[in-house]
Amino acid sequence: MPELPEVETVRRGLLPAMEGQVIALAQVNRADLRWPFPPQMAERLTGARVLRLRRRSKYILADLSTDETLLIHLGMSGRMLISGDLLGAFHHDHPAPQKHDHVVLTMQNGARVTFNDARRFGAMDMFPTATAEAHPLLAALGPEPLGNAFDEAYLSARLKGRNTPIKSALLDQHIVAGLGNIYVCETLYRAGISPKKKAGELTVKRASALVPIIRDVLTEAIEAGGSSLRDYRQADGELGYFQHTFQVYGREGEPCRTPGCTSQIDRIVQSGRSSFYCPTCQR
Ligand SMILES: [Zn+2]
Repeated sequence: MPELPEVETVRRGLLPAMEGQVIALAQVNRADLRWPFPPQMAERLTGARVLRLRRRSKYILADLSTDETLLIHLGMSGRMLISGDLLGAFHHDHPAPQKHDHVVLTMQNGARVTFNDARRFGAMDMFPTATAEAHPLLAALGPEPLGNAFDEAYLSARLKGRNTPIKSALLDQHIVAGLGNIYVCETLYRAGISPKKKAGELTVKRASALVPIIRDVLTEAIEAGGSSLRDYRQADGELGYFQHTFQVYGREGEPCRTPGCTSQIDRIVQSGRSSFYCPTCQR
């Protein structure tokens, strides 16, 4: 499941192909993914210029010259592939159409952007740009973790009095948008906070300290994704999936990496999701 850094990496990879460019031809090869596509999606996209390609939480939003916005959600298995010669040194011939190429955008600059999704948990929608913030997928989202509205005072206030574990609170998309299981585990390890700690029992100091740590964890992952883009382009034009080294995520039973700590990383299940943490370093 791509998390915020992966989605941001995909967005950045799409920028040279799409932003400022006209969609010369949109091909929509089926009626739905997770949900039905909006009516006449191919017709509404063809001829439109992408004014801005932005991200909100895990959604990519293309604001179009037609005053509509195209929302792209990768879901579990959605992949974006770029081919064509706009990538300079990283030329990719347009590949033969694959079975799960559901939407293909041929840009006027010669790039081709393909949305491929074998499991079809992804989604696309279109709506007036002016109403984007009211879209059902976007309306209830909390602030962006890398945005100015997400600061120490905000997070402390939202955690105050909350009886849920801090792990669950940080996964709550109403509190902060786009944080997923992997990066919450990594954040709590770096903060030295147990995932079981009740959110409302954190001191203001410890709650506030989470803000720069969340920003750092996400920023580092985005930077890792950026440096992987070149490799992926060289490989096959696919954007967004890259190998990380995690400190705790996926490391159950392995030694804690904190210098001097002799504990092993533990795994517990909270709200149906695995939490990886060091029982000694995280309190
Ligand atoms: Zn430890």
